[in-house]
Amino acid sequence: MRFDVMTLFPEYCDTVLSESIIGRARKNGYVEVNFHNIRDYSENKHRNVDDTPYGGGKGMLMAAPPVYNCYKAICDKLGEEKPYVVYMTPQGKTLTQQTAMRLSSYNNIVILCGHYEGIDVRVTDEIVDEEISIGDYVLTGGELPACILIDCVSRLCPNVLSADECFEKESHSDGLLEYPQYTRPYEFHGVKVPDVLISGHHGNIEKWRKEAALEITARKRPDMLKK
Ligand code: SAM
Repeated sequence: MRFDVMTLFPEYCDTVLSESIIGRARKNGYVEVNFHNIRDYSENKHRNVDDTPYGGGKGMLMAAPPVYNCYKAICDKLGEEKPYVVYMTPQGKTLTQQTAMRLSSYNNIVILCGHYEGIDVRVTDEIVDEEISIGDYVLTGGELPACILIDCVSRLCPNVLSADECFEKESHSDGLLEYPQYTRPYEFHGVKVPDVLISGHHGNIEKWRKEAALEITARKRPDMLKK
């Protein structure tokens, strides 16, 4: 899986995605993430990438030419295969585990990060295949949303986690939240691990986990059970 991130702040994303599991997956070559500074594609001698919006209003807008030039350079590098382009925007569909699963089957995903008041709509209309939001609130830029998307898609890619089981029964993978988990010590602040989990009886453990997942979903996210 290869991601190409179009951003005005490449170091920002690189730092976030160099740690822990995703950092290791990148080092081991299971996931490739390339960053492209949109400013490098400015046609302006001052390397400006933004301008005031037509019609007035506060703030600046990212102009179409540098974004398009950056996209074209990525396409040229990739050759024949047209990448799937995702624009991180509060106007997109909210990211879900199902979206992440679907995207994990692509070979090349280009992620466009906006900044300031967003991007001239003419270029997003032309190059973007899908708009994704990470929630109904507004951030200063698309960099954190892009990191979130890359993290949740990457962990579904082969070899990134130690086993597929790690995500197969997780919260949101099958419409439920995950059952509660325990590790050593056996007793913590007077609370013991449920007997069934130390019984060694796999059938009973499985049954307990299914019931516990239903109970926890009903308690924390009744809306999910209704669905
Ligand atoms: N003026 C835009 C609007 O009202 O829809 C918001 C622009 S926002 C300040 C700047 C950039 O941050 C956006 O272009 C987008 O890339 C990113 N962004 C902000 N909130 C986001 C969210 N909830 N999900 C994904 N991206 C977001």
